[in-house]
Parts: sequence; C-alpha cells; structure tokens
Amino acid sequence: MLETSLRTLLGPTGWLSEPEDVEPFLVDWSGHCCVRPIGVARPASTADVAATVKLCARADVVIIPQGGRTGLVAGNFPHDRNSIILSLSRMNKVEPITPGDFCVSVGAGVVLGQLHAALNDTDLILPLHLGSEGSAQIGGLIATNAGGNMAFRYGMMQDMVLGLEVVLPDGEIWNGMRRLIKDNCGFQLRRLFCGSEGRLGIITGAVLKLQPAPRSHATALMALPDLQAAVVFGETLRRTFGEAVIGLEFINDTALAIALQQIGELKFPFDVPAPAYLLAEIASTIPGIDLVAEMENALAAGLQRGQLTNAVIAQNNTQRAALWKLRDELPEGQRREGPQCHHDVSVPVSQIAEFVNVCSADAEALVPGIRVCAFGHMGDGNIHYNFSTPAGGNFDDKEEELSAAVYARVDEFGGSVAAEHGLGRLKTGLADTYRSASERDLMRRLRVAFNPTDILNPGVIVD
Ligand SMILES: Cc1cc2nc3c(=O)[nH]c(=O)nc-3n(C[C@H](O)[C@H](O)[C@H](O)COP(=O)(O)OP(=O)(O)OC[C@H]3O[C@@H](n4cnc5c(N)ncnc54)[C@H](O)[C@@H]3O)c2cc1C
Repeated sequence: MLETSLRTLLGPTGWLSEPEDVEPFLVDWSGHCCVRPIGVARPASTADVAATVKLCARADVVIIPQGGRTGLVAGNFPHDRNSIILSLSRMNKVEPITPGDFCVSVGAGVVLGQLHAALNDTDLILPLHLGSEGSAQIGGLIATNAGGNMAFRYGMMQDMVLGLEVVLPDGEIWNGMRRLIKDNCGFQLRRLFCGSEGRLGIITGAVLKLQPAPRSHATALMALPDLQAAVVFGETLRRTFGEAVIGLEFINDTALAIALQQIGELKFPFDVPAPAYLLAEIASTIPGIDLVAEMENALAAGLQRGQLTNAVIAQNNTQRAALWKLRDELPEGQRREGPQCHHDVSVPVSQIAEFVNVCSADAEALVPGIRVCAFGHMGDGNIHYNFSTPAGGNFDDKEEELSAAVYARVDEFGGSVAAEHGLGRLKTGLADTYRSASERDLMRRLRVAFNPTDILNPGVIVD
C-alpha cells in the first residue's frame, strides 16, 4: 500500500493523511479549494523526495509539487483524487553564503522573505521582491519563473538561477548545483526547469546569484494627469538614471482608491487623488551620491513641464516602506473588495496606456460601470489588468466575455496572455488559443521527454 510505504519512509511529520492535517494544503491565496488527495508528503531531504517519487510512480499516483501556495493560476493543487501533494516546506535550509562567488545555495522550501532576512547582514541581496514574499518558496518561484518589481533591471527568476537540483519523474536526481555564470556544456537544463510549473521535475535545491546591496535609495510616488503621462515619464526616468532605476510601477486611480478603502493602514500622501500614479525607486552601490537630490531635480523638471501634478520622495526607510506598501497591497485590497476578474498580461511598454484605454472601453461596453484596476510593472510592460464589479452590482455573468475581450486585445498588441504568473490549469486552454501549433507541440515533446507517464502535475502548461 502506497500510504503505508510513504508513512514508513517519511515518518509521522513527513506523511499527512488525516483530514485536519491535509486541509491547510488545500487552499491557496486565491481561496481555491481542491479535490482531496490521498495525502501530503513533506520530505526533509532530496533522497526522500526521490524515494517518494519512485513509490508514487510504481503505484501510478500523480504528484503535485507544492511550494507556498501563492501561485495564482491553480497549478499548485490536485484535480484528481488519485494524487498526492508533495510539499517542499521542510527543505528550508539556507547554506552559508559564499561572498566571493556572489551566490547562495538554498533548499527549495526556503521562503523568499526568509532568504532576504538571512542576507540582511551580508551586503548582498537577491533582487526579487513581490507581494507574496512572506509565503512564496524558492522552488515555487523558480517553477513559475517569477518576475516581480525589479525584473526589468535584474531579470526574472531564470536570470538568478546558477545551479539547480531536481528530482525527475522517474525518481532520478539531477545534481546541477553549479556556482557558475558561464556554463555552456550543452542544453541549458537549468533554464528548462525555470517556468516548468512542476511539469518536468521537482526542484529540491538551487544556487542563486546575488547582487551587491545598494547603499542608497531614493523612492518617489508621483501623481500624473493620465496613464500615458506615466509611460512617458517612466521613459524619462530610465533615460536619466539608467541602471540605477530598480523599481518603476504604475497604478491607476481605481486600483489605489479600492486598496485605500479596504486596507486601513495604507497612507495616501497627497491631498487629492489623481488619474494615475508612478512609483519609482533609484538605487546605487556607489558611496557619496545624493540620490534624493537627483530625484528631486528630475521630479521638479516633470512638475514644471506639467508631466506630473504632484510628487513625494521618501525621507527615510519607514516612508519608503509605506510607499511600496501602497503598491504591494493592491491585490489584497481588490481581493477584499469582492468578486474580481483578473488578467496577468504584458504588452510593449510604450503601449501600456493605449492598451488599458481600449480594454477599458471594451469592458465598459460589456458591463456599464465596471471598475478597472490596472497596475503593474512599467519597466517591462507587465500589466495586472483586473476588474471589480460595478459598485453595488455584479459582472452580469459576463466574466468570460470580459476576459476574451482582454486577451484578444493582448494578441492585437503583440503581447503575452501570461506574463509572470504562468499558465497553471487556469490558462493552459487559453494559451492553446494563442500559441502556434508548433510552439505547443515543442512543449508537448519536452513534457513527454521528461515526464513520459504524466505523473507530475498533469493538465499544467500542456494538457
Ligand atoms: C499577493 C501576491 C503577489 C504576487 N506578486 C507576484 C509578482 O509580482 N510576480 C510574480 O511573478 N508572481 C507574483 N505572484 C504569484 C506567486 O507568488 C508566484 O507565482 C510564486 O512564484 C509562487 O511560489 P509558491 O512557492 O507559492 O508556489 P506554489 O503556488 O505552491 O506553486 C506554483 C507552481 O509551481 C509548482 N512548484 C512549486 N514548488 C515547486 C518545486 N519545488 N518544484 C517544482 N514545481 C514546483 C507548483 O506545482 C505550481 O505549479 C503573486 C502572488 C500573490 C498572492
């Protein structure tokens, strides 16, 4: 019996099958409940992951790798009773940092916030910040190729992974835990697992590239007459400050108004609301540069030209955190507001405002009074283009039509229907609508080559 074998292998803390023990693993951040699996395996070592996979393969039982359950596309829980969840949460060790190599080795279950804390006194950072960093794990972040706020500057997760350790669907272990930037020994296997969403293997460990921690920051929130002004001023800031720009986020009025209403501790720094906002952060490792003064000059020029209507610069770390909190709490604010219909898409940066405007007109025609919450990463064109219901109303059962209209526009603008959250089970069918037959077939062939029996996370990326 599989259950008995797993309990013997993993012990009472490593194998959970009682309903009250399994329940916490069945709900993700969005509140999705799932089919109850046979149980939850929580191995504490790579060898135990490999042994668990071999037992499941022999019993023909599906494995769903699970990290911090913050994924937003339903890839992190089972859809079939004949399955187990394999949680990496006990593999949460951060190895001692090797400063000369600018890298750190971690277990897949390390939570991103835990890694940030471990790096606190090292003058090094992992430049990945996102709203879910208190729960999202390194394995999940790699498996979804997470982006976050600084992706345009430092890259996505795939750009931070130097080495990987992966348990393959037959239980074999691939140890690719190298600490090298240059490693052209054939196909870039580590890259293949970035964004593979638990389909090609189970990530158990990683070597991550670190960056020198900036010594100084200047963080500003700007109010602008419209979103196009935010696009233009974002470009100005990038041309002015170059690689010193490490954060550039835009927010529309509705998204911020909802967050302010729902989350009491948020502090709005202006007297009156504006149609659009831009949050920018510049940073430098070079001592002696007065970044706040540089930012003041740039903002003063923007105000004088009428590109900005108002602006504030954080004067200390508390104020800086408060400005970022306004951005980070937008998804939570919208979630608390009630039913929503969300889209993680990207378009070329220069077309962000045009895209938001045409989509908003489409949506208003379908559901009069619908509230558009648009925010995201101005540096890379990633828009979280979400709807909340009309005040006191509903979507009139038009969610599918609304999403279809958004995705059709994404295609028209040459964008991506899945920018940073991946496909999961929610968007695999959608991706098939827009990707070419050859692209889909290449992905299917990869899946078959790595995971021929379809034991790992079926239904995700390619069905
Ligand atoms: C408030 C909020 C803000 C967010 N902001 C961002 C953002 O700015 N940028 C961004 O990119 N994402 C963002 N996300 C999405 C989410 O945080 C990321 O997708 C994250 O990478 C998921 O990590 P996780 O550990 O929670 O993985 P889970 O949700 O548990 O799993 C996600 C997928 O990865 C697979 N997986 C998990 N661990 C492993 C492993 N060890 N090996 C193989 N496969 C595995 C799962 O099977 C699943 O398919 C946000 C989410 C929330 C809730």
